[in-house]
Amino acid sequence: MLTIKGLTKRLKSGERELEILKPIDLTVPAGEVLAIMGPSGSGKSTLLGLLAGLDAPTAGSIQIDGVEITGLSEDQLALLRGQKIGIVFQSFNLIPNLTALENVALPLELLDQPEGAPARAKELLDAVGLGNRGHHYPVQLSGGEQQRVALARAFASRPSLLLADEPTGNLDTATGQAIIELLLQLNREQGTTLVLVTHDPELGALADRTVHLRDGVIVKEERRERVAK
Ligand code: ADP
Ligand code: MG
Repeated sequence: MLTIKGLTKRLKSGERELEILKPIDLTVPAGEVLAIMGPSGSGKSTLLGLLAGLDAPTAGSIQIDGVEITGLSEDQLALLRGQKIGIVFQSFNLIPNLTALENVALPLELLDQPEGAPARAKELLDAVGLGNRGHHYPVQLSGGEQQRVALARAFASRPSLLLADEPTGNLDTATGQAIIELLLQLNREQGTTLVLVTHDPELGALADRTVHLRDGVIVKEERRERVAK
């Protein structure tokens, strides 16, 4: 369960102070599929960065499974991310001097699970359709392929919370659908809470709830009956 209260982000830009996120309240029950939609510049990526503990809020509280993350040290945050949170960034953030396979295996090695890491990394690459690309470096992969490696890496530690910024943004329709199916499978089989920033109406339509952001404020919320996924 993720609980956000009064979450605010302000940045100084010269003399002016920009309010990137106005105080936001949001509760995401465990196992929910939440889509965050909104125009470019509305604060979606900023919100995701705060939830991942990669950026500090100006004010407000973020609790993940009852733990207030806003006061944690860098080391504590790194441990929390390793154990609980999978992150897919808009810019993938793959490590350039590691192969696809090594990128996916890395979270497991950091969690002191090196024994099974290569086999599991291979399994995950197979699942995203890149089983034959394991030994390629990020620069040798297309944007869509890098995106799929980033997803495989985010799945590796079986996170209870997956944060993804435009996970289907760089993919053709067929690959995008395969990724959506994979995300929903993770949710179904492992109860992973999904917080997905998306412009993709198809992905939005599969979420249990869609929150619309505009100028740093939640302007609309839509809930859907859960259909068979
Ligand atoms: P979105 O992901 O919805 O497109 P962002 O969260 O990236 O939006 O950005 C929200 C707003 O905050 C935008 O107006 C953006 O220009 C501004 N912004 C984000 N990061 C910074 C920064 N480091 N410095 C100044 N402005 C920023
Ligand atoms: Mg963004």
